[in-house]
Amino acid sequence: MASVRNVIIIGSGPAGLTAALYSARANLQPLLIEGIEAGGQLMLTTMVENYPGYHDGIMGPDLMGEMRAQAERFGTEIVQGNVTSVDLGNQPMVVKTPDHDYQSKTIIIATGASARLLGLPSERTLMGHGVSTCATCDGYFFRGQEIAVVGGGDSAMEEAIFLTRFASKVTVVHRRSTLRASKIMQDKARANDKIAWQLDSEVEEIRDGGKGEVTAMVLRNNQSGGRTEIPVSGVFVAIGHTPNTALFQGQIELDRNGYVITHDGAKTSVPGVFACGDVQDHIYRQAITAAGTGCMAALDAEHYIDNIPEHLATV
Ligand code: NAP
Repeated sequence: MASVRNVIIIGSGPAGLTAALYSARANLQPLLIEGIEAGGQLMLTTMVENYPGYHDGIMGPDLMGEMRAQAERFGTEIVQGNVTSVDLGNQPMVVKTPDHDYQSKTIIIATGASARLLGLPSERTLMGHGVSTCATCDGYFFRGQEIAVVGGGDSAMEEAIFLTRFASKVTVVHRRSTLRASKIMQDKARANDKIAWQLDSEVEEIRDGGKGEVTAMVLRNNQSGGRTEIPVSGVFVAIGHTPNTALFQGQIELDRNGYVITHDGAKTSVPGVFACGDVQDHIYRQAITAAGTGCMAALDAEHYIDNIPEHLATV
């Protein structure tokens, strides 16, 4: 029978790698399964200027490379690939990949959330080069420039308002004539004279004018069918996030939007299963908060293993 691990971490963004670092240093010999989008959302970012400790900033992929090397230095075993199923109902718990079935006393879920995207080829190509899914991360790069926010929910309103601190003009593009956002957020956005509105409109293309950076967006009015090209140097896509929790549905308590519910630190509804990072946080969604909760998950797992309930301790 394969050996039973102390900790399996699923996901390799800042939350997963920090959980790995702490559990490796606690001598728990963690196994981290990285997932198909290894490194998580920071792999889609260029310069990160708000991660403490890098006063000149650091490129997102470089930051993830540093975190990975630090986790490996203390003995984290990292395997590539995707988890195909989990069984959290029995001890030891089981994590399956296409190649292996792993068994573990504890599991740390760090599978993150994916920003919903419009699905345009130009959006992918220009991601990190003017297209962004995080105003807090990238707003600062657009001082004095004209930019756009796509979406009509609270996130879009919040990002548009935040971005007016830097940009000279923020155009909100929304596909319907009425916004989804709460009234208070709508009122705040409407009262801001740096915000312009393109309602009943969809982004058809993001242009780069051959420069490799955003120069304009082409909008199609879905009432009239008419097209307009608006010069912008940034497009913030704020049409929501999807937590990566399909694997855990029916086995662990999720909120109505599919996020893992945590309590008392990083604990979930299943003893021995912990969650950290964006998979359990739809509010802060920052690399530093993800790393912080990754640390919490590792400490909680360590504490759980040290005090494992007697009827489970036979494994
Ligand atoms: P959301 O409420 O689901 O809104 C997503 C918006 O994006 C909607 O306006 C939707 O349009 C639009 N959209 C979705 N797919 C699209 C597509 N393919 N093309 C164009 N537009 C598209 O998501 P959210 O704004 O991220 O908010 C998520 C949750 O967090 C909500 O419960 C929200 O209240 C909460 N939140 C609260 C605050 C706050 O209170 N300060 C801040 C942020 C978020 P339709 O309206 O046409 O569907």
